[in-house]
Amino acid sequence: MKSFRGQIRHSALALVIALLAAFTGLIYWGFERALNQYVDSRLVDLAKTLGGLIEAQPNLLHTSTQEILNFDLRETSEEEQRTLREASHFILVLSSDGKLIWKGAAATPRPPITDALLSQVQQGQIVHDTVHPLNATPIRRVSVPVPEQKAPHYILQVETPLRFSHEALRSLLMLLAVFSSITTVFAWLGSDWVARKALSSVKILSTTAENISGPPFRTQLTLNPPYREFKPLTKAFNAMLERIQKDFEGQRHFVDHAAHEMQTPLTVLQGNIEVTLQKARTVEEYREALLTNLEQVERLVALSRSLLTLARFSGDRSAVQLVPLELEPVLQNLVDELTVLAEDQQISLTLKPQPVPLVLGDSDRIKQLLINLLDNAIRYTPPGGTVVVRLEMREHNVAIAVEDSGQGIEPKHLPRLFDRFYRTDSSRVRNSGGTGLGLPIVKEIAEAHHGTVTVQSEVGKGSVFTLLLPVFNNVPQSSNPCL
Ligand code: ADP
Repeated sequence: MKSFRGQIRHSALALVIALLAAFTGLIYWGFERALNQYVDSRLVDLAKTLGGLIEAQPNLLHTSTQEILNFDLRETSEEEQRTLREASHFILVLSSDGKLIWKGAAATPRPPITDALLSQVQQGQIVHDTVHPLNATPIRRVSVPVPEQKAPHYILQVETPLRFSHEALRSLLMLLAVFSSITTVFAWLGSDWVARKALSSVKILSTTAENISGPPFRTQLTLNPPYREFKPLTKAFNAMLERIQKDFEGQRHFVDHAAHEMQTPLTVLQGNIEVTLQKARTVEEYREALLTNLEQVERLVALSRSLLTLARFSGDRSAVQLVPLELEPVLQNLVDELTVLAEDQQISLTLKPQPVPLVLGDSDRIKQLLINLLDNAIRYTPPGGTVVVRLEMREHNVAIAVEDSGQGIEPKHLPRLFDRFYRTDSSRVRNSGGTGLGLPIVKEIAEAHHGTVTVQSEVGKGSVFTLLLPVFNNVPQSSNPCL
């Protein structure tokens, strides 16, 4: 596996090397250009001045042999005159067709100039070129037409070796190389320091995480990070611990509750069996005892079924298979099935459907949700009451409302009604046979469908449980297999 620290170091080093290379290249190129420009402009100045002299006094070429001595420069300083005289040692004067007609004392004859250069100068242009003699420093040369116009009389060439420029550039390159090497070493050491510092917070985090061996997860990460980027990580880590602790406590309560709920029917079962076994019984007595036991077993089966359903939903939303679903036939079937049960209790059960679009749903789970709501509605409505199931649009959602004219629920119970194992006092007193898991299952199923379930109730008048489901096209894409 790659090391993050190594990655930081390599990236930092690569960046520094790239920057240094660019910097070195730029400095070298700029310096070389400046030097060349200086040399070229100096050569042109000299060439132009000497060219002007020759143009003014062409006989200088005949009277001077290796040095132009007798030129007339009254307004020129002594220093300048000396420079010009010395420069004249290095000049070559060519005829307009490129033949050598005069050469300074120190000037070296060069191979004949190329046709391209000749034609350019003949056009009146000043031409710069670099001559590369064998085993010697390159020479910078300027060729100037005299006079400075088309079809000149002479071509004057002044040259200078590029030794100084080359030495200067070599020194500069050395300096840059030393600077780059030192900077690279510092960057390598510095990047290690930066990587260590950056990762120190992560180290604290992982040490804390390692030290959290199990519940309770109350250890909070007290990172005082110098970098604000780590604050969200610390926050997220602590929030995660809090969530785990909450989940853990929730699970513990749930298990406590479940065990407690199982204990009652199991105790009744045990008591019944013990009492029955104390003496010989008639067949009728055994039958009665078995019927009582069967009731408790049914309660246990209902409880374990509800627990299984909840376990399937906890943390796993794939407990539903969502497909485009038409709700009206599902409701109609269900109402038809439960009508017999309602009639037994002398309750009228009716469906009032309005046309609604498709929803994305799992018909079995929606049925289970509605059975729980209808079962409660029938159970908590006295004989002669009514239960109405409505199917209609509410803004952008499809709504299924289960309305009953039953006892209603006191407002203090409403906020906790969907909590696991929560039952109102009246249902406990009456021992309605419920497990307190029906509405939590309703809530889980609703949420798995990206829907919500709410309750409105008035004591003595009845309750309305409303399920809102998004219409098919409004369901989030990630959970919509049909899109
Ligand atoms: P149970 O299995 O006990 O019915 P639920 O989770 O389905 O558990 O319901 C929780 C409690 O909410 C019930 O015990 C009951 O007191 C109350 N309740 C649910 N539905 C109704 C209703 N339609 N009318 C009155 N009370 C209701």
